[in-house]
Amino acid sequence: MKITNHKLIDDNTDFQLSPNHSGKFKTSLPDTIILHYTAGGSRESSVRTLLTPSRKASAHLVLGRDEKITQLVPFDTISWHAGRSEYDGRVGFNQFAIGIEIDNAGLLTKTGDKYISWFGKEYHDDEVIKAVHRNESTPRYWHRYTEWQIEKCKEICELLIEEYNIKTILGHEEISPKRKIDPGPAFPLDKFREKIFESDRSENTEEIEPQIISGKVVASSLNIRKGPDVEMDKVAEALPQGTKVEILEEKEGWYKVRTGVEGWVYAKYIK
Ligand SMILES: [Zn+2]
Repeated sequence: MKITNHKLIDDNTDFQLSPNHSGKFKTSLPDTIILHYTAGGSRESSVRTLLTPSRKASAHLVLGRDEKITQLVPFDTISWHAGRSEYDGRVGFNQFAIGIEIDNAGLLTKTGDKYISWFGKEYHDDEVIKAVHRNESTPRYWHRYTEWQIEKCKEICELLIEEYNIKTILGHEEISPKRKIDPGPAFPLDKFREKIFESDRSENTEEIEPQIISGKVVASSLNIRKGPDVEMDKVAEALPQGTKVEILEEKEGWYKVRTGVEGWVYAKYIK
């Protein structure tokens, strides 16, 4: 899987340009991914809707339950998925965000032992999850996402993070909480985000850790203390000029150093 000319290239992925788009994103955008469910019966029916001019809606991608993906707008171009939206002091997320629609019927109503979508399709109980939505307080019934959809969505988000300036993944329900309930509690959004951004961070610390910085005492002698303050007790005899030290940490003009003992010294006397 890769991105070429702002299009996703993968097996079972096709591109059909939706007329429902604006111009290009501004410089250093998009920086956000918004996740949605289609509230539809199939990838194909949702794609048809998102290609229809009068519907005035689109997204960049639709992830089917049939393990196929349709892209409707290139990733450098503004698509119409967020609508009225506000989060963290910003409004109008179409201007900032790539929209991913996941083929899912959404909220289901239980009637006897049947679960029915808003468009009248019945679902088996092994396709249903009972859960409390983040913006609500009592449990309701939701259409499950397939494992393929969640795993593919993660891979795509990771690829978009590599390719663009993406800093956040949000649910439509978080940027339009009064109007929208998608992707809903059947999508493990909090864990999903954590996994993607944490693995990012741990990779970074691995790169930084092995660096050891060393220096030498340039004062005729240098006090070494328990903490970064002249009030703190000395941990050993003052270090003579020329003592080699490993610098472990820096804080407001002080270094924590190691040279047989560990302690804090004035940073300006280490070169
Ligand atoms: Zn949505």
